Amino acid sequence: MSYSTDITHWIDGKAWDGRVERWGDVFNPATGQHAARVACADAAVVDRAVECATKAAAAWRSVSLAARVRTLFAFRTLVEQHKRELAECVTREHGKVLADAMGEVTRGLEVIEFACGLPQLLKGEFSEDVSTEVDSYSIRQPLGVVAGITPFNFPAMVPMWMYPLAIACGNTFILKPSEKNPSVSVLCAKLWARAGLPDGVFNVVHGDKAAVDAILAHPGIQAVSFVGSTPVARYIYDTGTSAGKRVQALGGAKNHMVVLPDADLELAADASVSAAYGSTGQRCMAISVVVAVGDVADRLLPRIRERIHTLKVGPGLEPGAEMGPLSTRDQYTRVLSYLDKGVAEGAELVEDGRALKVPGHEQGYFVGPSLFDRVRPGTSIYTDEIFGPVLEIVRVATYDEALQLINANPYANGVAIFTNDGGAARRFQNEVQVGMVGINLPIPVPMAYYSFGGWKQSLFGDAHMHGREGVQFYTRGKVVTARWPDPRHRGVNLGFPEMT
Ligand code: NAD
Repeated sequence: MSYSTDITHWIDGKAWDGRVERWGDVFNPATGQHAARVACADAAVVDRAVECATKAAAAWRSVSLAARVRTLFAFRTLVEQHKRELAECVTREHGKVLADAMGEVTRGLEVIEFACGLPQLLKGEFSEDVSTEVDSYSIRQPLGVVAGITPFNFPAMVPMWMYPLAIACGNTFILKPSEKNPSVSVLCAKLWARAGLPDGVFNVVHGDKAAVDAILAHPGIQAVSFVGSTPVARYIYDTGTSAGKRVQALGGAKNHMVVLPDADLELAADASVSAAYGSTGQRCMAISVVVAVGDVADRLLPRIRERIHTLKVGPGLEPGAEMGPLSTRDQYTRVLSYLDKGVAEGAELVEDGRALKVPGHEQGYFVGPSLFDRVRPGTSIYTDEIFGPVLEIVRVATYDEALQLINANPYANGVAIFTNDGGAARRFQNEVQVGMVGINLPIPVPMAYYSFGGWKQSLFGDAHMHGREGVQFYTRGKVVTARWPDPRHRGVNLGFPEMT
C-alpha cells in the first residue's frame, strides 16, 4: 500500500476524486517538516458520504451474520499481515516509537477479533408460552448509518474501538479521523475493500470542525461515537443528542497512581516511568500524577529519576528509540508552557526536559521526560491535562487523603494503586470513583471483551466503547410477541442445513 502526500476521503469504496475546497497540513513530528496535505470535508462531502452509506446500509443489514463475520475475519487477517505497515504509518504522522505503534495496532486488532464473535453476542432471548401458544423473543437490530470522530493520539486503535463492532452489527460507518494523522484510516479503508466489504459500508471523511458539525447536523446519521478532549466531547454530546442522535463521547483524563508505603517500589518506579512517558505522555490512560502516601516520595523519587536518565528519546522509526516527539507543534508549545507554569507555581522541577535537542532533528517536537515534585492540588499543572511527558508527584499523608484527592478530580478515566496489601487494594477498587482501575499495573486498558470508558468528565453518555456495551450502543432492541396457530413448514429439502 502506498503512502500518499495528498490524502483524500474514502467514500463508496474508492478514493474521493471530487473537488476539494480546502486542504489541511500534516507534519512529520520528528522533523517538524511538512509531510502531506489532507482534504477537509465540507457539508457537501459529508452529505455524499451519508448518501452512499445509507444506500449500502439497506443491503448490509440483511447480509447474513455468517457472511458478515467472514468479511470481518478477512479484514482481521489483512490487518495482521499489514501490521508493520500500519504501525509505520502511525509513527510517521504521530511520532510514537514503532514498538508502541505496533502495540496500538495489536490492541485495535483485538477489537476486530472480538467483533468476529458477534453472532454469539447478538443472540436474543426467547420465552415459550408466555400465554397459550404465544411466544416472546428479543432481537437486536442495527441503527443504520453511524459515525466515529477520533483523536490524534491513537490514530489506528481508537477508530478500531468503533468500526469493527458497528459494521459487524450491520451498520454502515463514516469515520472522521484526526486531521493531524489521517493516513492510517485510508490504509484501513483499502484493507476493508480487499476483505470484500461492500462499497459504502466503511467511509472516511477527513477534516476538522466543519466536517464534525456536518456529521452532527446530518439527519441521516443515527449515532456518533467520539473520543477526544473533554470540551469537545461535551460539545459533541450536547449537539448530537439535541439532534436526536445516540451519542457516546469519551473525554480527557488526569490519571493518578497511588503508591502505598508497603508497595514494591522497584515495580512502582518501573510502572510510573513506563506509564508517564510511553507515547510521550500522549495516552488518555497515561499516568500523570503519582500520589505518594506517607514516606513513599523520598524513597520512590530517586528510583524514578534513575530510570528517566536511561530513557532514549529519538525519532520513532529509529531503532532503540523509546520515546518519540510530541505529535504537533501546538502540543510542543503547550507542554513547554506548562513546564514554565509549574516552576512559577512553586512545584520543584527535578527533571527538566525543556532543553532537550535530538541531534539531526532540531526542528522536531521533542521534549525530554520531565518530573515535578511537591505539586500542589489547585495549581494549573495539577488541574489541567497537559498530555505530554510530564509526571507530577503529589505527597499526601494517608490513604484517605489520596482517595479524597482522586475522587474530587473532575476527570475519572483511569487510576492505579500500588500496594502489597490485598485488603487495601480491594477497598480502593470499591471506593474510587473512576471507570478503569489498575492494581499493581499502571495502564488498565480493558481487553476488547470488556468495555472501555471513564466516569464523570471523561465520558458523556451511557455507553462505554467495545465489549458488550459497544454491541448495545450499535444496535437497538426489539421484542416480538407471536402466535402461530399452524406452525408446520411446507416443502421438502433433504440437504444438510447450511448457513449462507
Ligand atoms: P480533540 O478533542 O482536539 O479532537 C478530537 C476530534 O474532534 C478530532 O477528530 C478533531 O478534528 C475534532 N475536533 C477538534 N476540535 C473540535 C471542535 N471545536 N469542534 C468539533 N470537532 C472538533 O482531541 P485530540 O487533541 O485529537 O486528542 C487528545 C485528547 O483526547 C486528550 O484530551 C485525550 O485525553 C483524549 N482521549 C481520550 C480517550 C478516552 O478514551 N477517554 C482516548 C484517547 C484520547
